[in-house]
Amino acid sequence: MTDAPRSDAAVAHDYHVHSNYSDGTAMPRMVRAAADAGLDAVGFADHCNVSERDRMIRAKYEYGMTLDRTYPLRREGIESLRERYDLEIYDAVELDYAPDDEAEIRAFLADSGFDYAIGSVHRVEGENVQSHSTFADRSESERRRIVDDYYDALADLVESELFEIAAHADLIERTPDLRGYTTSDHYELIADAFSRSRTVPELNAGRALGDYGAFHPASDFREALADRGVEFVAGSDSHAPDELRDRIPAIEEAFDSWGLDPAKLASVEKSARLSPAEE
Ligand SMILES: [Zn+2]
Ligand SMILES: [Zn+2]
Repeated sequence: MTDAPRSDAAVAHDYHVHSNYSDGTAMPRMVRAAADAGLDAVGFADHCNVSERDRMIRAKYEYGMTLDRTYPLRREGIESLRERYDLEIYDAVELDYAPDDEAEIRAFLADSGFDYAIGSVHRVEGENVQSHSTFADRSESERRRIVDDYYDALADLVESELFEIAAHADLIERTPDLRGYTTSDHYELIADAFSRSRTVPELNAGRALGDYGAFHPASDFREALADRGVEFVAGSDSHAPDELRDRIPAIEEAFDSWGLDPAKLASVEKSARLSPAEE
């Protein structure tokens, strides 16, 4: 794939957008935006949590993030949209990962039959690492420990082989109170794990045009991964149509400026409805 001609740098597949089956916008509006952005494929990867821990179950019902129950309905909607649009629409999931939940995750993925699964570490010690208020009172050593725990969980995610994609590798960097604690040891740990795994990282644009202003993973981390021959898929992590329209050109520019080509998920391409000429 690295020998592909330059024209392949165009971002044709966005594997990570959200709909109102989690915290995004209704699917028809997102598909319309994907078509406007010139994509050949867009993947709905709505948030999902299958932990049996009480706190996670309560949070899921309070926030209405119940894709573990509603994915059959969303699937009907995706099938319906596929009839009206030329572009590929993937039926995917962004699943919360915690090492303790592996058995539940494995069983859920085997039952549900998504086109692919994105794994995400969003929480450490039960706290969402994107929270702007949670970590302000923590000491330096506590913050360092939280960041260590985050990367240990991410390494476990990659090594679990449960997921096609691992989301936003240095997610904690978007949180001001946790920023700057990522070390080269963390890069090495994660890059080594990816180099041995079927799981690929994404170039995630979730905060690239916002307050954080950078892609995940950030430059040094990205280089540690690229040095090991690890490739990236494109994930705009859009929750609204305008985000998708704005982020696709930004992701394309980023891949281009780093001399990288976006990867495609071979497992999805083979099973999918693409004609042989397009593969
Ligand atoms: Zn996420
Ligand atoms: Zn997301």
